[in-house]
Amino acid sequence: MSARAGVVYLVGAGPGDPGLMTARALELIASADAIFHDRLIPPGALDGARPDAELIYVGKSPSGDVPPLRGPHRSLRDGTSSEQGEIHAGLIEAARAGKSVVRLKGGDPFVFGRGGEEGEALRAAGIEFEVVPGVTAGVAATAYAGIPVTHRDDASAVAFVTGHEDPDKEESVLDWEALARFPGTLVFYMGVKRLAANAGALIDAGRDADEPAAAVERGTMEGQRTVVATLGTLAEAVEREAVKAPALIVVGPVVERRETLAWLERRPLHGKRVVVTRARAQASGLAKRLGELGAEVVELPAIRIEPRIEGEEVKAAVERIGDYALICVTSPNGAHLLFEALEASGLDARALAGTKQRQATEGETGARGESAGDGERGSGAAEQTGTVVAAIGPGTARALKEHGIAADVAPERFVAEALVDALNEIAVKGRRVLVARAAEARDVLPDALRERGAEVDIVALYETVREEPTEDAVEAAQSADYVTFTSSSTVRNLTDALGDRFPTNARVISIGPVTTEAARDAGLEVHAEAERHDIPGLLATLLADATPHNAG
Ligand code: SAH
Repeated sequence: MSARAGVVYLVGAGPGDPGLMTARALELIASADAIFHDRLIPPGALDGARPDAELIYVGKSPSGDVPPLRGPHRSLRDGTSSEQGEIHAGLIEAARAGKSVVRLKGGDPFVFGRGGEEGEALRAAGIEFEVVPGVTAGVAATAYAGIPVTHRDDASAVAFVTGHEDPDKEESVLDWEALARFPGTLVFYMGVKRLAANAGALIDAGRDADEPAAAVERGTMEGQRTVVATLGTLAEAVEREAVKAPALIVVGPVVERRETLAWLERRPLHGKRVVVTRARAQASGLAKRLGELGAEVVELPAIRIEPRIEGEEVKAAVERIGDYALICVTSPNGAHLLFEALEASGLDARALAGTKQRQATEGETGARGESAGDGERGSGAAEQTGTVVAAIGPGTARALKEHGIAADVAPERFVAEALVDALNEIAVKGRRVLVARAAEARDVLPDALRERGAEVDIVALYETVREEPTEDAVEAAQSADYVTFTSSSTVRNLTDALGDRFPTNARVISIGPVTTEAARDAGLEVHAEAERHDIPGLLATLLADATPHNAG
């Protein structure tokens, strides 16, 4: 159900890993008119917001740094810390204006999130509200650290405690004697700054100084770190390791379970820094997979895709698309843009069913459906009806599939030469062929088709232009373990852009022979080349390279 007008939703965004946002949170973010959000929300949490949604930053960051966001975006008080009263007033005002409002908070809104106060203010103002719980850091950061907050043998209770009290309060609200006696795990939120004092108070009140204790920094986020010590020594260890907020403190014998249960650090690419050079729009799938395998991903897009589907040339080709005997699509970008171009001309996948071809071979039906997918069986010329669609590789075939087209020909290898071979069986002599591709592509395919007597139209659906890397990304890339290249244009553009700041200690993984050649031409050593020239193939190769002993 989408967000209702005039209602405020107090929504938990979880501890930081975007995958731990609830389905309900995503649904409300996608439909809200206005979103009031904290600083500590997962990266990309607002990506699904409506383009016209109002995004209001009400974070409590002392530096006032507003994360870069798209869309109409403002912050209360110029991005500096918003007083709680201002937040209440902002929520009430938006709801009264008839907006559907999401108040997005880190973790769970009712666990040290002041969600209770906000709900009370809304109730007092007569505003309807709902609460959407979030995964709270106390269970999430600990779980990612391999520390079960309860355990049959070690802890039958868990207490969530604030380690940072309201400094205006005269007396401590924390009953240290009770906490010292508490028969279970203690989890302190906001407890890093006052760790030494708090640990001292607990020990003075009778808790064993030798009890295992841990600090979990950036739980569930990239770079999560766990420091294990004892209650008596943790403050010192945290100081030494320079643990910073956000971090949780866990006290209890369950901390030792981490020796067996730690899993995050055991993921195959844990601790490996991997540079992704694809265009930002295409990078997410690869970056996500790498992240899931434990890698720290540095996005260093070397290129950007600039669509060119507005041009007359593309329009003309699209409008007579059914006249082509064969359409060759040479990249996933090309596939998506071809369909965007069709849509712009008021057409859809049915346009590819063919017009003239079908009439020319009247009476024959169903032939092309047979050969979908594997590229081994190109449709025989005689039974060819409709337009034959060829994809240069499995990734392109998948992209076509998303638009309802099962490619008739899709060689496993991701190079034009392989497509030329695979197309040998298709009769093209005297027939019109469309090659839909990037502006700067190689001519292997059109040349080969022309040689076989085809009338070839080439349309450039997009251009890849160089993207200037940000200083931060270049800096982060310096200590990379791997640089991945997914096309020759990323190689050339990145090496040009980085010059002598290319991370020379990183191992270079290439998606295929053309990319490898470009890398060698640019003076790079290529350490491994994918056997399958697509993203899963590249990942498999990187994984095998990173864990040679585990291979197989
Ligand atoms: N409502 C939030 C807590 C807000 S208080 C929740 O339910 O999780 C902020 C404190 O939460 C931080 O000081 C830190 O102690 C803890 N915290 C939040 N996110 C964290 C994370 N990803 N890793 C470790 N601790 C975190």
